[in-house]
Amino acid sequence: MEKQVEKLLERYRIEDGKGFRLRDHKPDDDGGLDLDKNGSAEKLQRGVDYLAQQQDMLYAQDRWSVLCIFQAMDAAGKDSAIKHVFSGVNPQGCHVASFKAPNSTELDHDFLWRHQQWLPQRGQIGIHNRSWYEEVLVVRVHPSILEKQKLPPKLVTKRIFDERLEDIAAYERYLARQGTAVLKFFLHVSAEEQRRRFLKRIDEQEKNWKFSASDVAEREHWSDYMKAYEQAIRATAAPHAPWYVVPADRKWFTRLVVVAAIARALEGLNLHYPEVSAEQAKALVQAREALTG
Ligand code: ATP
Ligand code: MG
Repeated sequence: MEKQVEKLLERYRIEDGKGFRLRDHKPDDDGGLDLDKNGSAEKLQRGVDYLAQQQDMLYAQDRWSVLCIFQAMDAAGKDSAIKHVFSGVNPQGCHVASFKAPNSTELDHDFLWRHQQWLPQRGQIGIHNRSWYEEVLVVRVHPSILEKQKLPPKLVTKRIFDERLEDIAAYERYLARQGTAVLKFFLHVSAEEQRRRFLKRIDEQEKNWKFSASDVAEREHWSDYMKAYEQAIRATAAPHAPWYVVPADRKWFTRLVVVAAIARALEGLNLHYPEVSAEQAKALVQAREALTG
């Protein structure tokens, strides 16, 4: 990985949450790259191609799996980041799961249950568009959601969100120990940029379908959400499950940081194609002879 990129990623990667403050991270940061949308396209493509190569080996090797979690406020660009960053990846080797408000079957289980079913198999990349973190974000901001979760009342104490964070951190450590590389992205958009994007959704007809009036109402809780994100990152950032706080006011920059972060993680897995044993090599020679007669 280029030194410049590695250095840039360091600014956004949180591996130890102690002392983490969201206000040290600016949504409109562009890494001082002095690029515009067009200038960034070539860099993005290089990242996308690299991911495709690595993913082919990940799949062939069938040992590691990669879990990419995307969290953000509405209109921060999760969907478009996923669309662009994974555009070169073989669809057979990855899977996107989007998590909305849980249904009644899901509410009849512990909160990790529905997520667990979509964890990536070995050799695969799992992309979680929202995740178990919603349980300490939207649920924390709206106590009425917690009331509807069918928990025994005795277990719902003041410590519930700290306990959830503890459980999430423990679960991610377990996954890492099982061979899953866990990466968590918080696409950090500003309230002002979100406002601009909502207006676009209203004004441009082909974007109308994305607009939801309730998303506008949710803006009232902005600072509660930011606090909840900060607490989540503090409690769950770890070397084996880092958070990336990705500036999200410029979509082209968001994509570059995300692709570079995943490339870095894959590079760290030291992937290679499975080696052919002496026996397999012999079988290959025999098969070649049979085919060429
Ligand atoms: P997104 O908002 O992710 O772009 P969307 O607009 O297509 O997707 P929505 O119907 O808004 O889909 O579903 C996402 C909503 O579901 C978010 O507001 C999120 O807070 C909520 N959600 C996700 N997980 C949970 C959960 N565990 N409990 C309550 N609400 C949740
Ligand atoms: Mg939504």
